[in-house]
Amino acid sequence: MKKILIGLTRQECEQFAEDIGEKKYRGRQIYKWIYEKRAASFEQMSDLPQTLREKLREHALLGFMTVAEIDDRSSSGSVKYLFRLPDGRHIESVYIPEANRTTLCISSQVGCALNCRFCATARLGLKRNLTAGEIVEQALAIMRLRDEDITNIVFMGMGEPFANYDNVIKAAAIFTDDNGMAIGARRTVISTSGLADKIKRYADEGHKYRLAISLNSPFQEQRAELMPIAKKWDLDALLQAVRYYAIKSRKAPTFEYVLLAGVNDSHRHALALKKIVKSMPCKLNLIPYNPTVELFSRPDKEHVDQFARWLLPLNTGLSVRWSKGDDVNAACGQLAGKQSEWVR
Ligand code: SAH
Repeated sequence: MKKILIGLTRQECEQFAEDIGEKKYRGRQIYKWIYEKRAASFEQMSDLPQTLREKLREHALLGFMTVAEIDDRSSSGSVKYLFRLPDGRHIESVYIPEANRTTLCISSQVGCALNCRFCATARLGLKRNLTAGEIVEQALAIMRLRDEDITNIVFMGMGEPFANYDNVIKAAAIFTDDNGMAIGARRTVISTSGLADKIKRYADEGHKYRLAISLNSPFQEQRAELMPIAKKWDLDALLQAVRYYAIKSRKAPTFEYVLLAGVNDSHRHALALKKIVKSMPCKLNLIPYNPTVELFSRPDKEHVDQFARWLLPLNTGLSVRWSKGDDVNAACGQLAGKQSEWVR
């Protein structure tokens, strides 16, 4: 079987070079070609001897995802990429250009097991975890296609990143390695629905990537209805883990709060949310719901502003994320891959 090179760390590239009878430094050269120069083929690796390039063709593949569809109709400039994986499954990634940064929203799993009521990905069920290579290749492929650098990566596409913990952490390490893709660790965000055990582990391991937590309701009972994972990790356990992270890492995590009209956007919700946010160093990101299922709707602009005012004064960063790309179903919670993969 050929070795897939995208997804290997620098050390693993060195090891691979030795495995095929080459010197270690050849592995470092290959690493640079893949991640820094974004080579699309071994042929392009022009400072490697021709014999080595041939050997690589024989023993290795760069990656093997193909672009199945590109949707660039969004007026916001966001572009949605549908990738086909070697096993025929599909995942989506979204390119989001902004004034002072360019963000890629990438997937960590094919589908998702968590079944959040408001999220389109939930309808797929979980098909499988992505490998670290498949996570990294989303970014590399898009950067290559667009021939442009990406400044920010958010693990907010399909899947629950902390349910695929090891591969996500490995991919984040590759994204942020100064010898390769060199994306800032503070410009890399991992968003979790609230797996408290993994949040603690993440804190203990001392990672520098930013952490975001999808809160979505300040009340345990309602949260468990909206996000069944809250039955396993209840609000108390979750908040305890997030506080542990905030103290241990000395970094403010971000709470994400999807605003669902008439569901979690009342004055009572705002006050309870404010109490949580004030209980630890953190930031708050309000996300007006992006339509996916008929069950919910987005509060209007006036009400979103009202909700934000109810939260004031907050001695912390508060932002409202009007999603980009909801006109082509590329916004938060709208990634559902190919229709054919739907289970219901
Ligand atoms: N599973 C991870 C990451 C993916 S979702 C998590 O739950 O954090 C990224 C963000 O989009 C989450 O905060 C989630 O609550 C939000 N989201 C999901 N569906 C949405 C929708 N339809 N409209 C707006 N935001 C949504």
